[in-house]
Amino acid sequence: MKCNAATLILREDYRHTDTMDFQRLRNLMVDTQIISRGVKDPRVIAAMRKVPRHLFMDESAWYKAYDDMALPLGEGQTISQPYMVAVMTELLDLGGDERVLEIGTGSGYQAAVLAELSREVYTIERVQSLSDRAGKVIAELGYVNIHMKVGDGTLGWPEAAPFDRILITAAAPAAPEPVVDQLSEAGILVAPVGDRFSQQLVKLLKQRGKLLEEYQTPCVFVPLVGEYGWKTD
Ligand code: SAH
Repeated sequence: MKCNAATLILREDYRHTDTMDFQRLRNLMVDTQIISRGVKDPRVIAAMRKVPRHLFMDESAWYKAYDDMALPLGEGQTISQPYMVAVMTELLDLGGDERVLEIGTGSGYQAAVLAELSREVYTIERVQSLSDRAGKVIAELGYVNIHMKVGDGTLGWPEAAPFDRILITAAAPAAPEPVVDQLSEAGILVAPVGDRFSQQLVKLLKQRGKLLEEYQTPCVFVPLVGEYGWKTD
């Protein structure tokens, strides 16, 4: 098993960890995995230092919560690698006043990072048990600007649309049409687009109703399953 510096530090005093240890691990994660790889937005960096990623996981996984990898959440789903969360968030170019739609709540971690950086976050999850668990953590941490719903995110959230930013955290052959329709003019949509096994993270900018592609990098996400995504897991 891969064992990086963060894992080692935590294992030393695993049974006696307090919040200081986790803050230390978070800073190490940000310095070695995020800043060193080129993420620059100071607000994104501050949010990644702040949000307690481990609390979005089962306690048995806390010791590896700050490792450089995606981790299983149960139900066959994953919490994204910290670097990927930072890159996606930076691509959204958040100034603080946006209304953001996230598709694929999963653990709720990415929603919390978005909530630190924008006005309102709307997040949709298809699996009820994941949404329930994420909702508990989000409430315990006191986020009042995160709105959650269980359902098929490929249909978007029409009652709350339009959104200044949209982040899709599961992979589809293309950004779902109803979701694209719910993006504001001059809005930004970030999504992993490709086949079931490998994708490109794309940043799309809406201009005069059309989508301009601005950025691409390879990535791997679990499938977006729904009416305008894949039909099965
Ligand atoms: N953003 C999450 C990680 C997401 S993993 C985090 O920070 O932890 C992708 C998630 O998308 C999974 O939880 C999966 O159940 C969910 N998902 C897949 N298809 C979906 C759909 N059509 N609508 C909403 N959620 C979906």
